[in-house]
Amino acid sequence: MLSARLRVDRCRVRASRASADIERMDITDIQGHIRDIANFPAPGITFRDITPLLGDPDGLRSSLDMLANLGRPMEATAVVGIESRGFLFGVPVADRLGLGFAPMRKPGKLPFDVISQRYELEYGSDTLELHIDAVGPGDRVLIVDDVLATGGTAAAAVSLVEAAGAAVAGCLFLVELDALGGRSRLGSCPVASLLTYP
Ligand code: AMP
Repeated sequence: MLSARLRVDRCRVRASRASADIERMDITDIQGHIRDIANFPAPGITFRDITPLLGDPDGLRSSLDMLANLGRPMEATAVVGIESRGFLFGVPVADRLGLGFAPMRKPGKLPFDVISQRYELEYGSDTLELHIDAVGPGDRVLIVDDVLATGGTAAAAVSLVEAAGAAVAGCLFLVELDALGGRSRLGSCPVASLLTYP
């Protein structure tokens, strides 16, 4: 009984924190909540770990608000998020923009008919799939992911959206790794990133 009561009280504390005024972070604070992990998942890769940002209420809300503000001028009609960390930002950005969301997933995960695109990663290669009815002619799609590295993933996402008959309104990232030149693989597609690493 006592432990049940404690659980309820903890929930109340969490609920009041969630509805309280969240302090706005600036871009430097947001960058301070992204952790660099050397040699992950392979030697020579510096992984930009967004989990500290996700775990911080102020950082989470501020970064989502800023991402949505970056994406708003692209005048999209739908948001597509790239598995898996693109989902974490894509859904709340879509909600802030008053749009729907479609997941772009790794092979075999989507239950309905799909179109597919193979692509090269900074480490290895993979395939992305999109439901054939997720977006179509008349849609302007905002593609969202956490990190733009070599651009192979985002370029595959652009190809898939176009194969579905939709136009790409833009590509939106939390982090862009400028040295890897991913932006150059996205052609004339508008690209916006909240944080750029040299
Ligand atoms: P790329 O296709 O090379 O642009 O890689 C982008 C995808 O791989 C994104 O979905 C990222 O989640 C992930 N990724 C690639 N490089 C990194 C990195 N250095 N840190 C974190 N995620 C990365």
